[in-house]
Amino acid sequence: MSIKSNLLEIKSCLPENVTLVAVSKTKPVSDLMEAYEAGQRIFGENKIQEMEEKFNQMPKDIQWHMIGHVQTNKVKFMAPFVSLIHGVDSLKLLKEINKQALKENRVIDCLLQMHIAEEETKFGLDEAELQEILSEINSDNFENIKIIGLMGMATFTENKDQIKKEFLHLKSIYDTHKALNTKNCQLTTLSMGMSGDYQLAIECGSTMVRIGSSIFGIRN
Ligand SMILES: *Cc1c(COP(=O)(O)O)cnc(C)c1O
Repeated sequence: MSIKSNLLEIKSCLPENVTLVAVSKTKPVSDLMEAYEAGQRIFGENKIQEMEEKFNQMPKDIQWHMIGHVQTNKVKFMAPFVSLIHGVDSLKLLKEINKQALKENRVIDCLLQMHIAEEETKFGLDEAELQEILSEINSDNFENIKIIGLMGMATFTENKDQIKKEFLHLKSIYDTHKALNTKNCQLTTLSMGMSGDYQLAIECGSTMVRIGSSIFGIRN
């Protein structure tokens, strides 16, 4: 199977309201170009330096999504061009994104990452922390960021019932806050689902899936 045929097959199965992020981390630019030539314009990377290198080499109509954990001191490297940051999980990080976006004279879209998995190792906020962040950013100090939704990763398990439970939990948190409508916070995007679980995520209300290996093949 080629990258093009993988991509087109996945796209043909996605509902219209679901956005596909092609997760291209570790893959060479030639692979990304194959997806680009098949029409893909949204790519997800998890390392800022790698994303920057690919940004520099590739067509400028691509939207670059940062899907990995972000270190505060590296935000400045992606601030000029990043289109959406999925993994925001602290006020400190939001402050830095806002500061760097201001320098670039842009507004940077962000998703708040929720901790929905059982594993301790995954990043993300609990509901109390989410609430706290949402109330803090309503002040005038965050004019250069916009929270457009939530992101989450389910537990790495074969147990579909558990994954479904976690996705539905995230969807319910999303629904709870969806009515919020302030200048810098309007939840319209729910980023959940990867190669192994995106169909289930869509059934549970995902509007954005992050798919890597099913498009580009397994990573080393
Ligand atoms: C790598 C990665 C993906 C894609 O994983 P696949 O299983 O290859 O589809 C999705 N989301 C995040 C946050 C990732 O780091």
